[in-house]
Amino acid sequence: MRVHTLGSGDPEFAVVACLHGDELCGKNAIERFLAAEFPVKKPLKLVIANEEAIEEGERFIDEDLNRAFPGHENAASHEDRLAAAVLDELDGLQVLDLHATVSFPEPFVFYHRLTPRTRQLLQATGLSRAVNISHVGGGLINHVDGVAVECGLKGSEEASDHAYDVLVNFLASYGIIDHEHVGSDPDVYRVTEVVPGAGYEFLGVNFEEVEAGEVYATKEGEPEKVADQPFFPVLMSTGGYDHLIGFAAQHLGMLSSLEDQPDED
Ligand SMILES: [Zn+2]
Repeated sequence: MRVHTLGSGDPEFAVVACLHGDELCGKNAIERFLAAEFPVKKPLKLVIANEEAIEEGERFIDEDLNRAFPGHENAASHEDRLAAAVLDELDGLQVLDLHATVSFPEPFVFYHRLTPRTRQLLQATGLSRAVNISHVGGGLINHVDGVAVECGLKGSEEASDHAYDVLVNFLASYGIIDHEHVGSDPDVYRVTEVVPGAGYEFLGVNFEEVEAGEVYATKEGEPEKVADQPFFPVLMSTGGYDHLIGFAAQHLGMLSSLEDQPDED
C-alpha cells in the first residue's frame, strides 16, 4: 500500500485507488493530481491500495480485497491482511474510492446508506447517477463513511480522465483545493436483485429500463433470461463476472427528492 498525506494536521478525507489491482484509473488520477502540485488548503490522504496486485497486473493476489473487509492483521491471505491495514489508514476519514468496470463507459457512484454525510459525498462527486448497493453488502464503503465511483471502462483513457475529474471536483467541493466544481443532484437507483448466470450475453444497456417480458440475456442451450418485472440494469455485462450477469435496480428519483435513511443500530 502506498499512502501520501498532503498538508499538515490530521486529514478528514481520503481518496482510495486500486482496491482492485487491474483498475488503474484511480492510480492514474492520483498520480496526475500529485504531479499538478495543487496547493492543498486542508490535509488529505491518498491511498493506492493493492500495489502487489498492480505489479502482477491482476485484480488481486489471493482474494478480492473489496470483499475482504474488515480483514485480519495476521491472516495468511495477502488481501485479508491488506484489508485490515487499509481500514486502519482510513479510520475516521470520509472516503472517495475509485474503480473501473467492464460494463459501462460513463461514471456513476455507489453508496450504502443515505446519511447527511453520504448525501454530501454524492453531491461532491459531481456525477449524475448514484446507486444504493446495500442489497449486495460488503465492500469498503460498508466499513467507512464513503462512496465508490465506477469511473468507466477498465483500461480506457476516458476512465482515467473521469477519475481525475471526479477527484478534483470532490476535493474542490470540500475546499481542499481551489478549483471550479459542481455539486450534483444525481438520479438515484437502488439495487434490489443479484442476477446470477455464467456465460450469458447481456443484450441491454446499463441504466436503460428493461421492460417486463423483455429478453435481456441469452446463452446457447439455456432458456433466455426474461424480465418478470421492469428493472434498470447496473453493472450488467457479458463476461464481467464468473457467476453473475450483474444487478437489477429500481429507480428512486433525484437525490434531492429522497429522505435520509436513519442510522441502523
Ligand atoms: Zn473495482
